[in-house]
Amino acid sequence: MAGIYVHIPFCHSKCIYCDFFSTPNLTTSDALINALIKEYGRRSTEINEPIKTIYFGGGTPSIIAPERLARVCKIFPLSNIEEFTIEVNPEDVNQVSVKAWRDIGVNRVSMGIQSFCDDELRSIGRRHSADDARRAIKCLLDGGITNISCDLIYGLPGQGIESWRRSLSELLSYRLPHISAYCLSYEPGTALYARMTAGKITPTDDMILAEMYQYFCEAAADAGYEHYEISNFALPGMRSRHNSSYWNETPYLGLGPGAHSFDGSVRRFNTNDLKTYIRTADITVIDEETADERFNDKLITALRTADGLDINTLTSDRANYILKASEPFVTNGTMTLQDSRLRIPESSWLRTDAILRELIVI
Ligand code: SF4
Repeated sequence: MAGIYVHIPFCHSKCIYCDFFSTPNLTTSDALINALIKEYGRRSTEINEPIKTIYFGGGTPSIIAPERLARVCKIFPLSNIEEFTIEVNPEDVNQVSVKAWRDIGVNRVSMGIQSFCDDELRSIGRRHSADDARRAIKCLLDGGITNISCDLIYGLPGQGIESWRRSLSELLSYRLPHISAYCLSYEPGTALYARMTAGKITPTDDMILAEMYQYFCEAAADAGYEHYEISNFALPGMRSRHNSSYWNETPYLGLGPGAHSFDGSVRRFNTNDLKTYIRTADITVIDEETADERFNDKLITALRTADGLDINTLTSDRANYILKASEPFVTNGTMTLQDSRLRIPESSWLRTDAILRELIVI
C-alpha cells in the first residue's frame, strides 16, 4: 500500500506556540490548488503501489472551501482508498462542511481540541472555545464521520493537574477511536517563547509534566486504548493507517510546500516557501536525504512506536552500530531488545529525546 499527503499551509490566525509555517492570507489558495494538481500530475508515477490512504494536513486544511479541495481530490485514484483524513479546527466544523468533506471521500477527521478549559485555550491563542469543540464532535458524529482523532496539549500556561484530568476525562468520555496528547513545546521564534523569555509565562515543571503524561497513559489504558506511539493512542484496530506508514516506511507521496515524500528507498522534501512552491510547481525543487539522515529518521520514527525498530531491516553495519550504541540503555533497562526488536518501553518514553541523542549518527 501507499499514501498521499497534501499540505495546506493556511490558518485563520497564529497560535502562539506554533512554529509551523502558515499564513492567514488565502489570496493564493487557488494558485496553491493549481500547483498541487500540477505537482501530482508530474510526480504520480513515483509511487508504484496502490494508494490506500490520503491525508490533508497543515496548517488548517478545513480553512479551504471543500469545492477547492474537491478539485485536487478529483485527480487522485480514490477507488481503493481505505482511510482519507482531513485535519480540521473545531470552528470550521458544521453540517455543511461535514457533508462536503464526506462527498469528496473523507472518512476520518483529526481535530485539534487542545483543552476543554476556555482560559487555557485563550492562553495559547486558540480561536475556538471548549463548547465549539463539543459541538464539533457532535456535528461530525451526527454527520456520519465516526472515525475521529482528537488532540490535547498538556503543560499549558495555568493548567494544573486537576484541569488536565478534567480535559482528559471529557475526551475519554466520547470514546473516540483515536486520541493524541502532546506536551506544550517552547520553540524559539514563537510568541510563546518570547513571553517565556520576557518572564510573562513560566513553563510547567518537568515533574508535573511527567505526572500529566503518566496519568494520560494510565487513564487511556484503563479506557481500552492502545498506546502505539509516544503521543498516540487508539482503540483496538483504529491506529492511524496513514501516520503509521511514516513510522513503518510505507511509501507516500507528499504534495505541497514543505511536504515530505518517501518512495521506499529515498526521502524527498519540497521547498517550504509557499511562493516558491507555487512559482515552481512544474519543476519543484526537491532535496533528498543523505544515507545518515535516512538512518537517523528511521531510528527517530521507529523508536517512538510500541513496535520499535526491527534490527533485521538494517544493513549489517548499521545493525552492529545500533546494537553497540544501545547496549548501555538495554543494560540499564531504559530500552529493551527482544526477538531482534529494539524498543523504548512506555515507562521510558518521556526520556526518548535524550536516548535518541545518544543513538543518532552525527
Ligand atoms: S491551527 Fe495548527 S498549524 Fe495553525 S497556527 Fe494553530 S497550531 Fe499552528
